[in-house]
Amino acid sequence: MFKKILIANRGEIACRVIKTARKMGIKTVAVYSEADKDALHVELADEAVFIGPPPTAQSYLVMERIVQACKDTGAEAVHPGYGFLSERAAFCEALDKEGIAFIGPKVRAIEAMGDKITSKKLAKEAGVSTVPGYNEVIQDTQEAVKIAQGIGYPVMIKASAGGGGKGMRVAWNDAECADGFERSTNEARSSFGDDRVFIEKYIEEPRHIEIQVLGDSHGNIVYLGERECSLQRRHQKVIEEAPSPFLDEKTRKAMGEQAVALSRAVDYQSAGTVEFIVDSKRNFYFLEMNTRLQVEHPVTEFITGLDLVEQMIRVAAGEKLAFTQDDVKLKGWAIEARVYAEDPFRNFLPSIGRLVKYMPPKETDVVRVDTGIYEGSEVSMYYDPMIAKLITYGATRDRAIAHMRDALNEFFIRGVAHNISFLAALMVHTRFMTGRISTNMIAEEYPNGFHAVDVPHDDPALLISVAAFLHRRYMDRAARISGQLLGHERVITNDWVVLMGGNHHPVHIDPADGGYDVVYMGESYQVRSNWQFGEPLFKGTLNGTDICIQVERRDMIYRLFHWGSQADVMVLSPRVATLQALMPFKAPPDMSKYLLSPMPGLLTRVSVQVGQEVKAGEELAVIEAMKMENVLRAEQDAKVLKITAAAGDSLAVDQAIIEFE
Ligand code: ADP
Repeated sequence: MFKKILIANRGEIACRVIKTARKMGIKTVAVYSEADKDALHVELADEAVFIGPPPTAQSYLVMERIVQACKDTGAEAVHPGYGFLSERAAFCEALDKEGIAFIGPKVRAIEAMGDKITSKKLAKEAGVSTVPGYNEVIQDTQEAVKIAQGIGYPVMIKASAGGGGKGMRVAWNDAECADGFERSTNEARSSFGDDRVFIEKYIEEPRHIEIQVLGDSHGNIVYLGERECSLQRRHQKVIEEAPSPFLDEKTRKAMGEQAVALSRAVDYQSAGTVEFIVDSKRNFYFLEMNTRLQVEHPVTEFITGLDLVEQMIRVAAGEKLAFTQDDVKLKGWAIEARVYAEDPFRNFLPSIGRLVKYMPPKETDVVRVDTGIYEGSEVSMYYDPMIAKLITYGATRDRAIAHMRDALNEFFIRGVAHNISFLAALMVHTRFMTGRISTNMIAEEYPNGFHAVDVPHDDPALLISVAAFLHRRYMDRAARISGQLLGHERVITNDWVVLMGGNHHPVHIDPADGGYDVVYMGESYQVRSNWQFGEPLFKGTLNGTDICIQVERRDMIYRLFHWGSQADVMVLSPRVATLQALMPFKAPPDMSKYLLSPMPGLLTRVSVQVGQEVKAGEELAVIEAMKMENVLRAEQDAKVLKITAAAGDSLAVDQAIIEFE
């Protein structure tokens, strides 16, 4: 077994690999860029080597630096994680030359699977079912249209070198096909430097289901069940689970056996994933093979009880798999939610900044948090905006979902925007709960984006009784602190009014053992907790059931977060509540006449001029943040009055860029 390995990655996956290596008694070496000098993976590793400036092309992607770091530290093997150099055949070769092991498959497998046209051909030869289509390079638009007609619309146009959903388009008719062919070709050329494009049938109501395989260097290959990753936003996975609620035993076995057949065809040695697209009749078709550890591997680990990183390390060290296909048993259900630094209420714009407060839920037998950050770290614009992966387990799917809902309630993040509300909304969406999902579900269910109304709180009495508890505890504490002069004791009355969502809710609050009894609309709510003022999480019970609510106090207002929704609540005496209703309403300033920066970033272009008339949808400006160009478009027809920022400016969130007439 290796004594020391280097992890050629950062963030949560570097931390995750280090944990397993440590468990196995292997020393670890981290590599880091300037932006990551205080990162968690650097702290966790036994040694760390600096490899360059923040942009990945100058640090994490520079093979020579990583090979040198291995030589300098005596690391015998490299785990590449996912992304970065994990699927670069040239990297394996460079390591090989120096006698350093690559913890992943052999060069031939990486090369064969790195190209969609080649891998589809290989799959066909291995007896794997592939999407019907024309699996050759298409020369021109005319030929593309002819082929699409032959396949039958709708079709999907794809870049052979594609990845990350780039260079991919659906066409429903000749015109869309011609247009799509040109766009995909251009996108493929600019993104991958390779403009080969092919066409296949577009599978309607598609589900993305993938098979985890594991092979060793002695010719043994097994499959470890499937993961369903159909909940995607713009072809990016959001929620993954194992097993799939859609597969039956027969289909699972057929898919597993085909995945193994394909892996055998390329002598696959390591953990790998064979992705399939599955139609509504459970017909499945090979999409591609990822020759690395997947982001969503933890759900498989939960239901198989295996540590995939450990298996990868053992295989790379030449060990034989210690089990056979018959030993693989799937038990229970696991779900993963990707927690991103992005604002779901602002069209999922990425967010950067310092994590002022970061308290992930506690890890237990059924809750796992894979993260690469800690309180006070920066979510930087150079890397992927993922904050953490939250994984929960249950004996049944419903139990796993319930644990996920609870864990999301506990996940406390302040300082950057995050998508917890969106994840919580998905967990209670009927289509998700009943397993009727497809890769189009998010686009179909939120056609106009995600809004606060998409996360309604279905139990206002819960929020009202907790608010009553919070305020009463605050009043009792204030009374204790201010001292009680004999004859001048502060008497706290029991009748209060909770103001929430513009409505007045009268409540009666009685002290009880360990909390308060709150009477609201004739019902009694027993709220019990040892929560103290200033604690961000209110944990306790309501009528004997566990609850966890995030609490922030701003002047008179309690801001409560629960099940993905947010409520601002005030608790007042009946008299003050009556007066409050008479207070004049101060309208917030009207900012609708401004284009505001939706995120911190660099203004790279202002696309309009003073006096210009713009139409809804027209490009106004471009902001660069989190490695991405974000185009800001006009929401309605308008005329530009003033331009208040210039290209090259660093913008804060909500900073005005353009003023309209
Ligand atoms: P990439 O390598 O860019 O990620 P994939 O081939 O893995 O591309 O496809 C990504 C996603 O696109 C899939 O998960 C699926 O949702 C969708 N997709 C791909 N091919 C088809 C198809 N033929 N029909 C319908 N959807 C498809």
